[in-house]
Amino acid sequence: MDIGRVIFIGAGPGAADLITVRGARLLASAEVVLFDALTDPALRELAPHAAWVHVGKRGFCDSTGQTAINALLVKHAQAGKVVVRLKGGDPSVFGRLEEELEALAQAGIECEVVPGVTAAIGAAAATQRPLTRRGGGRSVSLTTAMTREGALRASRSADTEVFYMAGKQLAALSRRLIAAGWPADTPASVVSRAGWPDQLHSDHTVDSLGRASMLHAGRPTVVTVGAGAVPIASSAVASAQHDERDQFPHAPAMGTDAPAVEPRGKP
Ligand code: SAH
Repeated sequence: MDIGRVIFIGAGPGAADLITVRGARLLASAEVVLFDALTDPALRELAPHAAWVHVGKRGFCDSTGQTAINALLVKHAQAGKVVVRLKGGDPSVFGRLEEELEALAQAGIECEVVPGVTAAIGAAAATQRPLTRRGGGRSVSLTTAMTREGALRASRSADTEVFYMAGKQLAALSRRLIAAGWPADTPASVVSRAGWPDQLHSDHTVDSLGRASMLHAGRPTVVTVGAGAVPIASSAVASAQHDERDQFPHAPAMGTDAPAVEPRGKP
């Protein structure tokens, strides 16, 4: 029997139509789909005859879970199937792609990776906050707030830093961001379930980030800090008044701590 192959496809951060055209086309060719919790069930319509196997847990897969997923990928490919590994966002961003590619390489199985829209990009689009800005936003970092051991860590390594996996610990992230050198009044934009009909967004400063906890509780959340968190209307003001950081007050007129983007509701 011919050996199968595995196609990693980024499903995008939310609604099914955020998958790429290539991703949709290759998903339609799948015989087996191993999918994560963060992918839209509506994607099933693209591969209705495939066997759909749920392998994701929200947040972390423990190492046992990961080993089981690796083994499933190998097993189905060795059975000659076209296997799609459908991942939320982009497979290369905090998606355990490394382990899965390694397992398949060791088994001599052919792979392909189709990119997807990562949550940081989905959040930037949904809030109309470009991650890069001419002048003050020259670099972007995608950073996990969680270490491998499950500890929370913050950093200041770019003009715009987008933190993944911090949703449960926003108050602690706030303290760590300040310790990492972010000024207390740096803007921080929090988006949960970016790209979904029930997406929520709230604006904060680094020192008031803890107030976002209730609103986004229990939802996949990204926290954008720095240049890329500034609303577009005020970013011109921001660069004009760079020395007077009062343009990011702790309770801005836009309604800090209230959702600035209402749940979008299905059309
Ligand atoms: N590969 C994914 C990331 C997986 S890690 C990607 O590229 O987006 C899981 C983390 O991603 C969550 O803890 C959360 O921080 C973030 N995330 C995933 N989907 C999200 C969404 N729709 N909105 C906001 N954050 C999201």
